[in-house]
Amino acid sequence: MNDLAGLEAFANVKRLIVVAAHPDDLETMCGGTIALLVAQGVTVFSVNCTLGDIGTQESGIVRPALAATRLAETDDAAQVLGIKQTYNLGHHDGELEPNLELRAQISRLYRITQADALFTFDPYWTGQIHPDHRAAGQAALDAYMPSKMPLYRPEQLSENGAGLGCLQKIFLFSTDRQPNVFVDVNSVYGTKIAAALAHRSQFPKGEENLEWMKTLDTLAGAPINMTYAERFKQLDVW
Ligand SMILES: [Zn+2]
Repeated sequence: MNDLAGLEAFANVKRLIVVAAHPDDLETMCGGTIALLVAQGVTVFSVNCTLGDIGTQESGIVRPALAATRLAETDDAAQVLGIKQTYNLGHHDGELEPNLELRAQISRLYRITQADALFTFDPYWTGQIHPDHRAAGQAALDAYMPSKMPLYRPEQLSENGAGLGCLQKIFLFSTDRQPNVFVDVNSVYGTKIAAALAHRSQFPKGEENLEWMKTLDTLAGAPINMTYAERFKQLDVW
């Protein structure tokens, strides 16, 4: 356990981009860490690859209406956490593919935001059962290298404020593949819950619907004597 890091793993991070699949992924997977980093002055950008437009068990709702609801909930949650800007790439929920189009969309946002650090799903964890989560993580990693190369999609570089991608650190969440960063989120757990509950369509019964999240965060914290923890696997990139 000697090589484990805590919040200090993000010491030099100034601009963080989080690439997720669905509205509510960021909040439930790493909302506590985001709250702590925003409090430290880190600028955070949120990217959801899909509209979350199948995320209901109700039969009377149509997909465009659900997508609109989920976009509004995403903005409400971003306000709770202090996220600077949210982006949605407009793909359909349950059908995300890590293809060249998605790679280019994500590269563009690396270039526009000038983020120096990335949080995304671990696409290589064998327990990563949701195909959208695997696809978002894979595409986010695949966009890393091309975004730094001037000849890749050069039209992206003419956008206002855009420059070559400058990601320097990558942290994967939703992983049980030797995570090496454990963040104690107990002090901001109320904020994490409030941000998650902003997704009212997903958690209509309030905290009762978040027992699974609390269980995951409790299990993550148990080996290192934290009440609630969020864990990441930091990739070595240069
Ligand atoms: Zn998800």
